[in-house]
Amino acid sequence: MLYGGIETGGTKIVCAVGTGPQDLRAETSFPTTTPEETLARMIAFCQQQQLVTPLAAIGIGSFGPVSPDRQARDYGYITSTPKPGWAQTDVAGTIERALGVPVGFDTDVNAAALGEGRWGNAQGLTTFLYLTVGTGIGGGGVSNGQLMHGLLHPEMGHILLPHDWQADPFAGACPYHGDCLEGLASGPALQARWGMSGKSLPSDHPAWALEAHYLALACVNFICTLSPQRIILSGGVMGQSHLLPLIQQRVQSLLNGYIQVPAILRQIDTYIVPAGLGSRAGVLGALALAEQAASAGPTTQF
Ligand code: ZN
Repeated sequence: MLYGGIETGGTKIVCAVGTGPQDLRAETSFPTTTPEETLARMIAFCQQQQLVTPLAAIGIGSFGPVSPDRQARDYGYITSTPKPGWAQTDVAGTIERALGVPVGFDTDVNAAALGEGRWGNAQGLTTFLYLTVGTGIGGGGVSNGQLMHGLLHPEMGHILLPHDWQADPFAGACPYHGDCLEGLASGPALQARWGMSGKSLPSDHPAWALEAHYLALACVNFICTLSPQRIILSGGVMGQSHLLPLIQQRVQSLLNGYIQVPAILRQIDTYIVPAGLGSRAGVLGALALAEQAASAGPTTQF
């Protein structure tokens, strides 16, 4: 069974065909422009691949917010995004009608979480989180073996954190909330606060202790509310390798011995970890969504 995976990012689309990380038969990427042009390019890539080998299903991990509930009237849509032209775009339906195969659809971060569970650093776990820290901050996850949905889907990047205005007078960069997690700790927030990008900030700059503090506060909130067996941290900002140990130590210090499990007390370096699939977690996760869709069929809830 061959699958198609599409990672629909705000600036770039990545499409791949294969069965997993060791067996990718074709891959392409192109910029995200208008919905019409971008969807047409996704469809053209998949149709071209279908000429070689039929695809059993397509998976789409999309920037959001999206409607992931198969019972909802707007299932498969990108819904209220501020990205110009993309609000209320029927992504999954357009692809399914054009290609005639089952389509799995979810947020980019839920897809990435699924990919990490299938082939990456969350294999064998039933409850875990995937957080990306880059242009924005997003989080998805699996709880008791199921991708996290509910009211809509998690919006972990927009949780509100304690913000010490004296220590950090930066008002935050989120257009909706100002100083939510994304507003305080995304790549653009680093840039706006310090006047240089995360890549340019030296590893001993105080920016990193503050960044680790905010990301650790977020992890602690998620640990206390969702009890994940592991947290995967990914994205461009996490590419600064000195940041992860700072977060691990800060999580231990903020929890202050309250959660008495070895994963937190002694094995924090295997509890909060980078993505095993690296920057390919999204597109490979989309392949994993396709796998699920193939076994569920076109109309079944999975
Ligand atoms: Zn926000």
